[in-house]
Amino acid sequence: MQRRNVIVVGAGPVGTVAALACARHGHTVTLLEVQQQIDDSPRASTTQPPTLEMLAELGLIDEYLRVGLVSRTFQFWDRPTRSLIAEFDFARLKDETAYPFVVQTEQHKLANMAIARLREMENAEVRLGERVMGITQTDNKVNVSTESQTLEADYVIAADGGRSTIRKALGIEFEGYTWPERFLVITTKFDFQAALGCCLRTYMADPQEWTNLFKVAGDDLKGRWRAVYNTREDETDEEARSDASVRARLSRIYVPEGERDYLHLNLYAVHQRVAKSFRKGRVFLCGDAAHVNNPIGGLGLNCGIHEAWHLSQLLHAVLTGAPVERLDEYERIRRPLNIKYVQEQTVANKKRLEEREPAQREKRFAELRAMAEDPKRHKAFVMRASLLERS
Ligand SMILES: Cc1cc2nc3c(=O)[nH]c(=O)nc-3n(C[C@H](O)[C@H](O)[C@H](O)COP(=O)(O)OP(=O)(O)OC[C@H]3O[C@@H](n4cnc5c(N)ncnc54)[C@H](O)[C@@H]3O)c2cc1C
Repeated sequence: MQRRNVIVVGAGPVGTVAALACARHGHTVTLLEVQQQIDDSPRASTTQPPTLEMLAELGLIDEYLRVGLVSRTFQFWDRPTRSLIAEFDFARLKDETAYPFVVQTEQHKLANMAIARLREMENAEVRLGERVMGITQTDNKVNVSTESQTLEADYVIAADGGRSTIRKALGIEFEGYTWPERFLVITTKFDFQAALGCCLRTYMADPQEWTNLFKVAGDDLKGRWRAVYNTREDETDEEARSDASVRARLSRIYVPEGERDYLHLNLYAVHQRVAKSFRKGRVFLCGDAAHVNNPIGGLGLNCGIHEAWHLSQLLHAVLTGAPVERLDEYERIRRPLNIKYVQEQTVANKKRLEEREPAQREKRFAELRAMAEDPKRHKAFVMRASLLERS
């Protein structure tokens, strides 16, 4: 049986980056993906500065910028009064990174880009339409079984998403909770920047129902907006998806009647969960397989890509002669980092938007205004929000 250095399970944005990073180090890599093609439904798009640095090192940045939208600022608004509370500017990070902005590029574009590169490499193999069913390991190898065969590798990276087959097969607990409400994403061509004067990443607080607005390029590069809402806890999925309720939601973010048509709806459950362990022997969990969080702030996928990057470096070191103990660094560093920078921040971001108590709301708004106005605090806030503080 031909033995690979690394098998990556899952060709989402994390798995494809992990596979490309390992292959560029010269190792033999097989990427296995159950779907015949990459899921292009609206999911993550916000790419933070340290992630852009990694994409640059992978040789993907020019294409990534070409198919995305650069966004330097993000804003907080009070939705009921339609007023801007504070604006934060990533230009304050100009001495910290070559990319003092985020890029809004849909995640399927990254996965497809990385797959195209892998297909050009002799030491890499991409197999779409191949479901991984199980995994076994000994002290010196891992066997991965798919529906049609068993493959052998030195190491396995499980980037098979939040419902990870591998995490379950390894018996690793996914600790945390699921929020009672779901999130609804309405994709529309309505131009919120022109209509409201907001920027390409805008967070609107409202005690009844908050909204986040993002502009993405779309596959045709003509631009479209995603409006993300919380549902009511007692709202059924059917109700949330109904035409009447979608149009009512658009009206509450000031879209005039007659312009409330939409292109796409996406309704999904939201969790805050972290795997009890990020590793078992020669198998490593990466990305959503290791942790999931609410998407407010655009942090979860970025953190997953940082893990893929870090892990590819550790595997490269060990595959080229470094002591195997180097691999302990992965879990020791990445798990607490996710808890501190992603879980804590995304929960705080959500609370900031949904605060119901009027005095507390005012206090949170006052804090945001004070931070935006104070250069030192402004920079500290964007250092953390961009994951540059620890990446
Ligand atoms: C519906 C939805 C909407 C989201 N919206 C947002 C958003 O608006 N903003 C945001 O920041 N984040 C959002 N997220 C989160 C973001 O999409 C994830 O953080 C990101 O996809 C994680 O990437 P990943 O590569 O780790 O996992 P995934 O993108 O989930 O990729 C996992 C891959 O593994 C494959 N796979 C699974 N099981 C197997 C198997 N047994 N064998 C082979 N292949 C397998 C899957 O087909 C998939 O391609 C959303 C997530 C979901 C589910």
